[in-house]
Amino acid sequence: MSTSSITSLSLPRYYSSSTPSNINTINKPTRLSPSIFCRVSNPSSSSSSSPPPPQLISSRPVFAAPPQYITPTLREDEMSKDTYEEAISGLKKLLSENANLEAVAAAKIEQITAELQAVDGKVGFDPVERMKTGFIHFKKEKYEKDPKLFGELSKGQSPKFMVFACSDSRVCPSHILDFQPGEAFMVRNIANMVPPYDQTRYSGVGAAIEYAVLHLKVENIVVIGHSCCGGIKGLMSLPEDGSTSTDFIEDWVKICLPARSKVQAEAGEGAGFPDLCSKCEKEAVNVSLGNLLTYPFVRNALVKKTLALKGGYYDFVNGSFELWGLDFGLSASLTV
Ligand SMILES: [Zn+2]
Repeated sequence: MSTSSITSLSLPRYYSSSTPSNINTINKPTRLSPSIFCRVSNPSSSSSSSPPPPQLISSRPVFAAPPQYITPTLREDEMSKDTYEEAISGLKKLLSENANLEAVAAAKIEQITAELQAVDGKVGFDPVERMKTGFIHFKKEKYEKDPKLFGELSKGQSPKFMVFACSDSRVCPSHILDFQPGEAFMVRNIANMVPPYDQTRYSGVGAAIEYAVLHLKVENIVVIGHSCCGGIKGLMSLPEDGSTSTDFIEDWVKICLPARSKVQAEAGEGAGFPDLCSKCEKEAVNVSLGNLLTYPFVRNALVKKTLALKGGYYDFVNGSFELWGLDFGLSASLTV
């Protein structure tokens, strides 16, 4: 067992704007509350004292504890091993006292071993422990080994790149392009799409582009597509009648409908679905590059030549990377 566990979880009351009977409650004074309460308790501590009020946002870093308080070991493994060894020694004692129990003891050992393996299979992955060990590794191997870099970054950031990449866990730009902390300002979303300028529908993406271009003054915006993209597959699979079956996904990927139309129009006889998807993965990048031009501050920076737009494509099946400029074609200026 972990030393701490979430012992309570409660959701706040909120008013749905889609429920007419609740409309009158909007003008009543309401108290803001966290969307989720999580109370973490330590079973070894006394339960008589009342716990502190739950806090969603801590003023301290989550993993701020000194390294000696965080040991990157799997407690479950140790505890299981101890239990196992105790059981084995007990059985050995029993055997030495009564030889005819050997068969029973052997069966018991087999049962304990099977149970331990089953437990390992179920609780072998501890997400908190994984993140702790990950942070400790980062801190020892990177943070503490490069005080100059992290000292500069503590004062501010001045990234040369803004990167749009897919949320897909296999395509992290920091890994595939070796971006170091402070090098790339990133937006990751389904199918690495840049929506057109729209202050209402796409304010999140708009804010990121505005901040990157006007405040950070990035010199490059790179949109990176990738192989086997589930978002593009979804775009290519949209029903022709316009119907949708998801709350957000289909509406989002429609941003790149022009890419789908182009790929379908240019498809040769007998073009297979995977081939169409691969082509669309690149054409969607071009649509996003075009959408970037709908942001006035992007256009201004391009005219002043302080900003360049680039398209990229990472193929993780073949281990290759393509990069091209703002020519709306697929002529790769760089292929690795
Ligand atoms: Zn993707």
